[in-house]
This record gives sequence, C-alpha cells and structure tokens, in this order.
Amino acid sequence: MKYDILSMTLPELEELILSLGEPKFRAKQIYGWITKGAWGEEMRNIPKSLIKKLEDVCEFRLPKIKLKLESKLDPTKKYLFELIDGECIESVFMEYAHGNTLCISSQVGCRMGCKFCASTILGRVRDLAPSEMLGQIIAAEKDTGKRISNVVMMGIGEPLDNYANTVKFLRLVSSPDSLNIGLRHISVSTCGLVDRIDDLAKEDLPITLSISLHAYDDETRSSIMPINNKYSIDELLCACESYYQKTGRRISFEYTLIANKNDTEEGAYMLAKVLKKYIRSTPHVNLIPLNEVEETKLHTSKNVNNFKNKLISLGINATVRRKLGSDINASCGQLRRQSQKE
Ligand code: SAH
Repeated sequence: MKYDILSMTLPELEELILSLGEPKFRAKQIYGWITKGAWGEEMRNIPKSLIKKLEDVCEFRLPKIKLKLESKLDPTKKYLFELIDGECIESVFMEYAHGNTLCISSQVGCRMGCKFCASTILGRVRDLAPSEMLGQIIAAEKDTGKRISNVVMMGIGEPLDNYANTVKFLRLVSSPDSLNIGLRHISVSTCGLVDRIDDLAKEDLPITLSISLHAYDDETRSSIMPINNKYSIDELLCACESYYQKTGRRISFEYTLIANKNDTEEGAYMLAKVLKKYIRSTPHVNLIPLNEVEETKLHTSKNVNNFKNKLISLGINATVRRKLGSDINASCGQLRRQSQKE
C-alpha cells in the first residue's frame, strides 16, 4: 500500500521524509508543490533522487479533468473528474460577489436514496479519500488560475456518511500549511444523519451546516427521503437545535420545491410552524427549485415565489437559490449519470 500523500498533514509528511533519510525542510517544499497540483518532475527544487523515492512510496491522487462544461451565461464551470481507479465525480466552479466557490463531491455515488436526486440512482460505489476532496479544489484552482475562497459540500455523496474522511478533509483544507480556506467559508450539507450531527458538534469545526429538509412532516419527508424512516423530523430538528447550542453556529435549511409534493401555501405554513417549534434562532431556509432528473418523474414547482413570500410573512428568513450555469446541467450527479449511460 502506498501513502496517499495529499491526504497527509504536514507533520505526517515530515515524519515520512525523515524516515526516508531526507532533511525535514523538504517536506514543506513538497507540501507547497502538491497543494498546487504539482508532482514528480514538476517539483523543480526537489532533487531527482528524492522524487524517485517519493514516487516509489506515495501515490498522488489529484483528480484528472475528464470533461469540462463552461456556461455561456455566466462564469460557471462544471467538471467531470476521473479518480485514480477510473471512477468519476463532479465539481462545480461558481463566481459570487463574496468569492469563488467550488461545490465538491464526497463519495462516488450515494446510498441515501433521495427520490429526486441523480447521484443516488445506482447507489454508492465508494467513499472519497480526504485527498480526493482536497484534490477537486486544487485541480479547479490549477485549471481556472483563480483562488477558491469558499467550498460547499453539496456535490455527489453524503459527507456525513463518509465522516472520518470528511473531518480530516476539513482540517486539511483549513490548515495554513495547506489551502488555508477558513472553516467559516465552508458549508457541509447533509440529509440528516442525526448521530453524526451530534458527533460533528464536538469537533470544534466552525463550518456552516446545512440540512436538506425538503418537507414539513414525516409522511412527506419519508416519501422522498428514506433517511427519514431512521431519524424523524422531531429527532433531526432537536439535533439541529442542540448543535446550535453547542457550537453557536446557525444551521441553514435546504428545501427543494417539488410540484404537488411539498410546495403549497399550506406547506409553507406547516414548515414555518415546525421550524419555529424546534429552532430558537431565526431559521434560514434556502429554497431550491427542483432540477428535473429524467428518471424521477418529479417536476419542478411553479409556486416558488409564493412559497418564499409566505415563509417570509411568517418570520422565516427565506431565499431562493440563484441558478448559475443552467445551460450546462450544473446540478450535481447529472453529468456523472450521463457519462455512465454513454
Ligand atoms: N447528501 C447531501 C448533499 C447533497 S446535494 C445532502 O443531502 O444534503 C445538495 C442539495 O441538493 C441537497 O439539499 C439535495 O437534497 C439537493 N438536491 C439533490 N438533487 C436535487 C435536484 N434534482 N433538484 C434540486 N435539488 C436537489
């Protein structure tokens, strides 16, 4: 088994370099290169003999660009990345006023089974290593020549179903030795693995946690999100409130609007009611008009603005997710799905 060098912290790499009989300062030089996406001969100030030793004991898991789609409407770019074993994942690069953002994947496929989602149709193949999450950012920075200042874990996979690697990734990406992206600029989105939310509250990671709620009662939520059969809305929202009490970090809620499922005015009323019951700070709801996925037969809602206005009138802070890259199918999972079909 080779060392997965991009998953290593600087102290871990220093230990490896010393064990190879090389001076410790080389580790910092090498770390500087790999976090810019350079490896092998590209590491120009590293002696050839050391490069050879490193290549013998390490693998460099930087994702390779297999396909890149560029929007004509805005600077959004969608990447299909190929991993070391040939599996594919997706990332989306977006430019916002507050900085460049990359939406990254956390698993190859997903086993959560949400009915509206393209990523889960063929289940989960494997978890991503920390290097492969970090590598999406490094590869996108290398390709665009732009610094990424914000990261959202809203691509393929359920980050909390790959808990240890996600936490290691969060520590790596925010480390000043590595990409130095502040944890406050990172969002982790989850379908609601309650035990893991409790664990995450103890990690001292000031990220923003987003909960994919998508429904106002258990019957509706269970019909579109199988995870709700394991953890009810009551358990989920209690975990959210206790996460906030422990960390002081407000949670935001994602709500995908699906026609005739969860998008009525009555639904907005019920959603406001259930959020207010459990969440003591003003909850923020990010409404996402459903991106239609061919296989699902679910349709996007025509009631988005009404739903938003109703929530606002009930004292809930609601916004509609701005649609970037709509001409390149930028919602995650769909590009990988397409490449599987071909
Ligand atoms: N597993 C994580 C990350 C998933 S993707 C989670 O469940 O939160 C990020 C968001 O996009 C989630 O809220 C997810 O439910 C939503 N989503 C997935 N497929 C979608 C689709 N076809 N249209 C709109 N939103 C979708």
